[in-house]
Amino acid sequence: MSAEPGGPEDRLRRFATIWSRAVFPATSTSLTRPEFEEQLLPLARRLSDALRARAFDAAVAREIGAALIAVHCTDPEALSRTLDCVDAYLVLYCGDPDASAQTQEALRSRSSRLQHAMAAGFAKALKERTLAEQESISQAAFHAQRMVAQALHSSEARFRAVFEGAAIGIGIADLDGKILEVNGALLRMFGGSEQLVRGRLITEWTHPEDAPHIWRLYDELVRGERDHYHVEKAFYRPDGTVLWTNLTVSLLRDADGRPQYQLALMEDTTERRLLNLRLRYEATHDALTGLPNRTLFFERLEKALAAGEGQRFGLCYLDLDGFKTVNDSLGHAAGDRLLVEVADRLQTCATAPGEMVARLGGDEFVALITGADTERGVDELVGRIMNALVTPISVDGRELTVRGSIGVVEGPVGERGPAEVLRSADITMYRAKSAGGNRFEVADPEADARAITRHGLTTALPMALDRGEFFIEYQPLVHLGDGTVHGAEALVRWLHPQHGVLGPDRFIPLAEHTGLIVPLGRWVLEEAVGQARAWQERHARTGPMRINVNLSPCQLTHPGLVSDTVDILEDAGLEPDALCLEVTESALIGADDDLLKPLRRLAEMGVDIALDDFGTGYSNLANLRRLPVSILKLDRSFTQGMQQYPADPVDLKIVEGIVSLAHSLDLAVTVEGVETGAQAEQLRILGCDTAQGWYYARPGPPDRLHELALADARG
Ligand code: C2E
Ligand code: MG
Ligand code: MG
Repeated sequence: MSAEPGGPEDRLRRFATIWSRAVFPATSTSLTRPEFEEQLLPLARRLSDALRARAFDAAVAREIGAALIAVHCTDPEALSRTLDCVDAYLVLYCGDPDASAQTQEALRSRSSRLQHAMAAGFAKALKERTLAEQESISQAAFHAQRMVAQALHSSEARFRAVFEGAAIGIGIADLDGKILEVNGALLRMFGGSEQLVRGRLITEWTHPEDAPHIWRLYDELVRGERDHYHVEKAFYRPDGTVLWTNLTVSLLRDADGRPQYQLALMEDTTERRLLNLRLRYEATHDALTGLPNRTLFFERLEKALAAGEGQRFGLCYLDLDGFKTVNDSLGHAAGDRLLVEVADRLQTCATAPGEMVARLGGDEFVALITGADTERGVDELVGRIMNALVTPISVDGRELTVRGSIGVVEGPVGERGPAEVLRSADITMYRAKSAGGNRFEVADPEADARAITRHGLTTALPMALDRGEFFIEYQPLVHLGDGTVHGAEALVRWLHPQHGVLGPDRFIPLAEHTGLIVPLGRWVLEEAVGQARAWQERHARTGPMRINVNLSPCQLTHPGLVSDTVDILEDAGLEPDALCLEVTESALIGADDDLLKPLRRLAEMGVDIALDDFGTGYSNLANLRRLPVSILKLDRSFTQGMQQYPADPVDLKIVEGIVSLAHSLDLAVTVEGVETGAQAEQLRILGCDTAQGWYYARPGPPDRLHELALADARG
């Protein structure tokens, strides 16, 4: 293909040239450099296509990585040079020089994804090839062994030929372990002259990494109890370096079957082992910071948690506060530099044996400590970490203040698995974060359990509404003067398929948090209004039954509040003045006119607005005048003070004051939580208008209320 200078084809060629120059010295190819370049060119073309393809396709990049093995780039160095080259030049030569900065950024990110996939493809292909090689080597070894055995039994000359010509190392020793013969391949592996090997005892060739069973197998073989064994074994070469081998040792018997010699066949696996180590390193370390990654951390944690009795562990789970802002405002490169510096500092915090720091991903780090006394250790560790973050980090000439939230878990090993421990640390970290960040919190199993159910409930909430798992109980509101039922408060419950009936305190805050409160609140209003209408129809004699429905602060700000309420009332055919909406005092403290407007509209239509839980929110009593409120619901805490006889005089004075103030503002007073007759009497004397509480009835199904009202009407 002719390449117009500076055109895409020309640039592609230049990329292939650079690539081949970089990698050629690290290959084991027998080609010349230009020939090698020709082999890389199609790979370069596929890479270039993959870079600009509409969708990212990891499979193509993995194939390119695998193809490197096929062109004899099997050394890890070749991979590393390839990745460097792709990183530096692919976008430059194969991208679009005229593209916008945004597209360039996208190309660069595509390039790094391609690199990842190439590395993965390379590693996989290499592993497959190694396995294939091992297979052929063991076949060759088997073959050689048969030849040697035959040769020993036949002529010396033939034996020599096989022995010397073999590509794998062969050695022969007597049953005392004295080395009698070694071939050239074996000598080359040991890098020494024959004198250094021949005549030595096999038993001198111990290595600290010898597995204990190696020497047991050896003993069994020389005693004639086994015919061969296969192990992976390390040796020291005469120069002190280490040689790793795949070693097969066979017992050679004489014609009568008596053990005579031992024959060792060895294959040098040092390189492969180094490569595996390096691949393992790459698979277990974070490329950006060089810290152990999630995989390695989990391995270590698992091991730590499986340690023997009396051992403990401590874990600090750190998440940086506001890291996203750094990334968003200063760019990812700055974010990366910050992470690298944080990683370096963290590493200095956990240097003792049994301590480690890892990066779990993003801006999340963990520090692990193990041993018998991690209770104190983890305290000190978290102190060191907080300290390490104090000094601002300088990135691009800016001093960035780094803060973090840390979840600490400490405990005896053997009780929990790694996933559970990490989840606990994560939950605890979030507790630190929601408490404002820049702090640590210590895990507490009860808080964990709460958070876990909270999480489960939150995710189940939306479905629950669709599945009709909510229902309403009604609690009568009673006239203190004559004890008649004049209405009821609707209180929502959730019949959860696993947890049974849940009270509103368990799920209303979650519904508020997720916004589900709006549809849920609308459903409650619809149900309750419909129910009130049904009571009226069924028993007009008891007078208009009023219905109280609670509103969450979030519903107040929802634009559909007024229109939804009007629609619901109209659909049910209920007069607005039969409805009372309860809003907690705290939601209205400091409320501005905008927030009050919908409530005012509703009040103008005739809907009563009650200030719920009054007395808990320290609202300015004079402020009440400003609110579109017609009823005060005194919080349960006031009634509690009246449970004993005589009642707490201070409580009595307060309630008396509130009642007279409320009445002077034309507000009715309802009291909550009336549990005894004495309380009811006391409250009546103090001038409260209506009451609600277990003394009259617990919240219950709608029919119960109807019965109570009927009883009133008869009595
Ligand atoms: P609240 O509006 O102050 O409701 C009164 C609570 O006091 C109810 O608890 C009720 O069961 C309880 N209670 C009634 N009488 C007694 C008594 O004599 N002694 C004692 N110790 N407690 C009594 P519940 O049903 O658990 O409701 C708790 C809160 O949940 C309610 O407080 C209300 O703020 C909220 N809530 C209930 N239903 C809804 C709803 O549909 N929407 C919204 N947004 N909130 C609701
Ligand atoms: Mg209420
Ligand atoms: Mg209340």
